[in-house]
Amino acid sequence: MRTAICLDSAALLTWGAFSSLRFWKKLCISVLCFIVSTGTKSALAQKTTRAAQFKAQHAWSAPLRIEPMLSGNFGELRGNHFHTGVDLKTEGREGLVVIAATDGQVSRVKMSPWGYGNALYLDGPDGVTTVYAHLQRFAPKVQSWAVERTYAVRSLGLDASPPASAGLHFQAGDTLGWSGNSGGSGGPHLHFEIRSTANQHPLNPLDGWLDKVDTRPPVLPALWVESATDWYRVSLPASDTLSLKSKVRFSVEGYDLLDGASNICGLRTLEAEIVEEGSEVLLTHRASWGELDFGVNKDMNAHAFYPVWSSTRDQVHRLHRFPTNRLGIYETPASAGWVELAAGQHAVLSIEATDAAGNSVSMDVPLVGGQPEMPSDPWCDDLGAQDHGEWQVEPGLAGTERHGRFEFAWKAGTFFESETMRAFVRDNGRTLALEPTEVPYRKSLQAQWPVPSSVTVWEGAWSILPRDTLPSDRWLAVQRKEGGDVARAVVASWLDEAWEVDLPRGGEWTLERDTVAPRVLPYHSGTPLVASGDAVWFLEDALAGIEDVELRIQGQWARAVWDPKRNMLTYEASDAIHPRGVACPVTLTVTDEVGNTTTWERSLTWP
Ligand SMILES: [Zn+2]
Repeated sequence: MRTAICLDSAALLTWGAFSSLRFWKKLCISVLCFIVSTGTKSALAQKTTRAAQFKAQHAWSAPLRIEPMLSGNFGELRGNHFHTGVDLKTEGREGLVVIAATDGQVSRVKMSPWGYGNALYLDGPDGVTTVYAHLQRFAPKVQSWAVERTYAVRSLGLDASPPASAGLHFQAGDTLGWSGNSGGSGGPHLHFEIRSTANQHPLNPLDGWLDKVDTRPPVLPALWVESATDWYRVSLPASDTLSLKSKVRFSVEGYDLLDGASNICGLRTLEAEIVEEGSEVLLTHRASWGELDFGVNKDMNAHAFYPVWSSTRDQVHRLHRFPTNRLGIYETPASAGWVELAAGQHAVLSIEATDAAGNSVSMDVPLVGGQPEMPSDPWCDDLGAQDHGEWQVEPGLAGTERHGRFEFAWKAGTFFESETMRAFVRDNGRTLALEPTEVPYRKSLQAQWPVPSSVTVWEGAWSILPRDTLPSDRWLAVQRKEGGDVARAVVASWLDEAWEVDLPRGGEWTLERDTVAPRVLPYHSGTPLVASGDAVWFLEDALAGIEDVELRIQGQWARAVWDPKRNMLTYEASDAIHPRGVACPVTLTVTDEVGNTTTWERSLTWP
């Protein structure tokens, strides 16, 4: 926060009053003020209390031996959630020693091709859990427990809670494992989290837990203005008074930059206020990223300005909170966020962002009401000639809608706001267009429409189908990027000559059929065996994606490590279930999401 020192009244006012932009503005209108940027020392002191208390009473170690460099921090907008930890750089490589931050017992071990990859949860004292993800390998006693457990449950991945009797205790400073790039990691790094053990809420590691010097303030490059029918970008700082021709609501692109890295990071706080000439406050908003909740973390989609976020991945924050948004990060009440100024009426939008080190940036945007324009309807162009259905959805209500040939069903809570939905089926019979496209869904929307005649499909010059009847299996609803690459694919079912599919978002969805079985290629042209004794295969699947893998060595189930990023499947020789020096049969069965299967069979001799 800015600190306002008012010569004749400072002593009369509490810090709380100063901590509101509104009071600051009011005072500055009438009283002589100095405005000093001193960072957020007092607010920060409160946030760091838990970390400071913990460190005063218990052993604590940084999770890596190198100086912390962050490629990501807490609260960044990511995919469909806020990032719940920090991403520590590992010099661009795997295999750095990962250290237990606290004394504790391993409470959860995960091994997954996706998400956290190989991850450890360490329950420490005082209800503090630390999480270490994307590891290459665990410390030997954890690794052998995890491998044994995987053979017991025979699954492609593992998510298990070791009992105390497993003896997986560590002390702060012990080696927990080695850093890697496993799971949904886009390059080698360590994902590190601090959680409250009881509710598993992640806490901001930069609130006093990790020591990270940061002298760079956050950046506010642009304001986004949304009207009922449109939206546009205004570069900040604004060069001119912004004229508002209708009721609008605001979002701001805001992010932090940390010393020593160029990565875009998240903010610690974001505050906005619109004060009308004459000091009437039209809007107040404050968000703060100190603690998150996995139960509602996907409501990030309603915090972000979704039309821009979903297409550009820019960190654009709404400056208001939808009433249906359940996130706990807000310190101001929910509001639809609409602001309307009469022609000639003046106001100021003030925005302030801080980072966890207390650096801050603020921006004032002067506003004036303009002459209203007739709103246009941007959806109509494409839909004009089509026989389309149009209906209303409400955030709190479940519903169904049947229009001519298609039918939709949705659960209560699917939408964040009331929306006018529109849908039509294109002439090819396989493409459903669903609008609006830029609205986030919290749950999927079930769509059903009749399968067109095979002639209609054939007229679309589409090759892999028999001409007489359409097969009823292996269909997917596919959304493609502009270049033709698959953006999303959802398995569709076939019910009484209709397709049924659960759509995670609007846009155009085209039914395609995947009849191509996965490809299985051994690492070397003749054999999957590599120098280490591991067996490695490359797996590829065109459309649906790999669903399941089963490896058998001499008829016995074997653990296979699947890395979808590298399309690599590995049997690790250290599992030692293979015989040596004799030929033994090895069978690898790979199945994709719609049931196409490939079986690779060979006799292998381990040296
Ligand atoms: Zn991460």
